[in-house]
Amino acid sequence: MASEAQTENRTALSVLQTVFGYEAFRPHQAEIIEDVLAGKDCFALMPTGGGKSLCYQIPALMRPGVAIVVSPLIALMEDQVSALKSLGIAAAFYNSTLEPQAAEAVLQKLHSGELDLLYVSPERLMLPSFIQQLHSLPLALFAIDEAHCVSQWGHQFRPEYRQIGQLRLQFPQVPFIALTATADKTTQQDILAQLNLQQPQIHISSFDRPNIFYKVAEKHKPMQQLLAFLQSHQNESGIIYALSRKKVEKVAAALQEQGLKAQAYHAGLSTEQRQQVHQQFIRDEVDIVVATVAFGMGIDKPNVRFVVHYDLPKNIEGYYQETGRAGRDGLPSEAFLLFGLQDVATARFLVEQTADPQQKQLETFKLNSMIQFAESQTCRRNVLLNYFGEHSTTPCGHCDICLNPPELFDGKVTAQKALSCIYRLNQDFNLQHVVDVLRGLNHQRIRQFNHQTLSTYGIGKEFSDFQWKSIFRQLIHLGYVVQDPTHFNVLRLTPAAKGVLKGEVELKLALPKVEKAAGKAKASKAQQRALLTEQETEIFEALREVRREIAEAEDIPAYQVFGDATLIEMAKKCPQTDGELLAINGVGEVK
Ligand code: ADP
Ligand code: ZN
Repeated sequence: MASEAQTENRTALSVLQTVFGYEAFRPHQAEIIEDVLAGKDCFALMPTGGGKSLCYQIPALMRPGVAIVVSPLIALMEDQVSALKSLGIAAAFYNSTLEPQAAEAVLQKLHSGELDLLYVSPERLMLPSFIQQLHSLPLALFAIDEAHCVSQWGHQFRPEYRQIGQLRLQFPQVPFIALTATADKTTQQDILAQLNLQQPQIHISSFDRPNIFYKVAEKHKPMQQLLAFLQSHQNESGIIYALSRKKVEKVAAALQEQGLKAQAYHAGLSTEQRQQVHQQFIRDEVDIVVATVAFGMGIDKPNVRFVVHYDLPKNIEGYYQETGRAGRDGLPSEAFLLFGLQDVATARFLVEQTADPQQKQLETFKLNSMIQFAESQTCRRNVLLNYFGEHSTTPCGHCDICLNPPELFDGKVTAQKALSCIYRLNQDFNLQHVVDVLRGLNHQRIRQFNHQTLSTYGIGKEFSDFQWKSIFRQLIHLGYVVQDPTHFNVLRLTPAAKGVLKGEVELKLALPKVEKAAGKAKASKAQQRALLTEQETEIFEALREVRREIAEAEDIPAYQVFGDATLIEMAKKCPQTDGELLAINGVGEVK
């Protein structure tokens, strides 16, 4: 109340400066606030971290009456309200987490006009008794946060959001402002229609987040790749997203084992546990949160330096929202996606389960767009911006593709080798096995099926395991090969493959990048230098190479062949006899 009286002759800028303590508005904030102050409906599309909240918070303070803010995210509500209270603003929330007594107290305050902002969950808002009460109160505005939830074209459709559109008609004198960070063209139009906005002012910020560096890597040995990435982000804050609770637990445990300050976060944990992780992360007591998508709703931590997607996100909207949690403070930050074929197969399989055909079609489209982004050979930023309808053709110079454009090569013969190998294997083996046959590996499973006698055995030694997988992915992307997720992910040829096999089709493939040495190796190198002479280091490196080959041929992790400590001891002692070899730590009879 008091604040309303005082704001009479204050400008929006002075409220920004005195109440919120910020110097200047960010792009679009001033215009949106001006429109809302003038009583107009608004649609604001701003990237995560763009500063949407102030667009309704400042008008809430400047217009008479209370502002009703609808938000689907209870955690976010509570965060925002406590942040506002700490600024001396009269705010409260009203949702299902409140005890009846506390809820009553909030309604009491609402009635006596003590509140400037009330955050409400859509369920509570749409209770007829609550709407009835609103009719008797002066209202400053309605703000619909996360407005994409109103649209079934969005990626987070919430049926209870649908009814909010009725409110617009019931409160014709109160301005409505709809805000979202994720909406493609279809969703945008749908939001306007569903909410019955009246001649809305449309404000669309650029979706570009220039301080974020986008990087995608083929998922090969994800844990090693992750550790290598984290090497360049030591002691920095970051989020790692994985799809399942189990995976989250596993990754978090592996990172803890490496001595990193990492914690798991998923819906299977108790509320207290989750709050604790959240708090520790905010306070920089935990560097890394490994989480399912449940984490991040309501994360307003400015110094998140990196976001890793350990698994493929279901759509670009989700990916963009999650990566957008990096670098809210505008400082350089990194988004790193591990992109694996297995993930594509799993995601496709899940989409296939969708019962509603329209929904299935939509999800298929969104998944395909996500895959195309990951496989794109053009600037990542361009792909993202174009996806959100922001036409962009100039390479950004600040993504992995721009820094390291793929080289194309004449892929005809390579593709023929790949396709004929699938054919020789009766289209009944998975990717790994096809690659192993091409590369002429000699492990148990190959011998079991007598595959060393096939005409395609060992005809692909020019490429590594990693490179072949990249080539197969391109062939899948080009529609020559499909992976059957309902049958052990075996590779099958499509009708189009015939043309390639007959040599009638010319095709260019992106030269697969050579895998970079993992960062973990770098770290142990430093350690080794302290321990080994130059000559010993040379021997050690040679032993490592042999170990890698054995591991690959036997299809087991390298450390199961011999640990680093064992190799170091071998390099130092250079055993010449069986006895000397057995004397080395980690060498048993069988090995
Ligand atoms: P969004 O909801 O769009 O993701 P927020 O409203 O949470 O973003 O704002 C993101 C961060 O930017 C918050 O910490 C907020 O206080 C800050 N912020 C918003 N507007 C400004 C501004 N004009 N100047 C400085 N910081 C701002
Ligand atoms: Zn780029």
